[in-house]
Amino acid sequence: MTIAANVGPALAREVANATSIGELRHQAEGCTRCDLYRNATQIVFGEGPVKTEIVLVGEQPGDQEDVSGRPFVGPAGRLLDRCLEEAGLDRQRCYVTNAVKHFKFTQRGKRRLHAKPNAGEIKRCAWWLGAEINILQPKLVVTLGASALYALLGPKVKLTPERGHILYPANRPPVLVTIHPSYLLRIRDEADQRRQRRDFVSDLHKAAAYRSQ
Ligand code: SF4
Repeated sequence: MTIAANVGPALAREVANATSIGELRHQAEGCTRCDLYRNATQIVFGEGPVKTEIVLVGEQPGDQEDVSGRPFVGPAGRLLDRCLEEAGLDRQRCYVTNAVKHFKFTQRGKRRLHAKPNAGEIKRCAWWLGAEINILQPKLVVTLGASALYALLGPKVKLTPERGHILYPANRPPVLVTIHPSYLLRIRDEADQRRQRRDFVSDLHKAAAYRSQ
């Protein structure tokens, strides 16, 4: 299926002067495109090899990522690492990033509870995500969860019907659609969790197979 990309040619022109991920990250550190920079500790930009075939896109940094400044280092990140390994993918060879680069949360006493980014925040931050992909030119982008899918392909493409499929946006690398690993951590029923985890690894295995083609 060929579909329109959410982040398009206008974006490519705007970031034409950023020629490396390091330069882009430096620009993003001063970003005020939405309000999320105000309460977060720091920006959490993507990381990984620039000569990569696979880019993994999550939703946004969590509490631990916000403190460390690195993506996917909390519980969901550790689970992702294990599932990638089972699927035959080495995280060190993937570039890992998020649709939204600053942590959005609600303060409850001393705890900072994850708050879902809204459509406006995702769209504004898609500017950076599109720029990362423009520079990296991977063979495949894997969207982990609905926010990443929305950032890349807009509101018409839904996670449930497209899960496990590879989509082909115009003028963009192909996109493999799957869930966010934090979803697995929220499932209470053990059998359901096992089933969903197996399906997640199977989706990641498709990414490994695509890379090898
Ligand atoms: S979340 Fe994204 S768009 Fe919003 S301030 Fe941070 S980097 Fe900029």
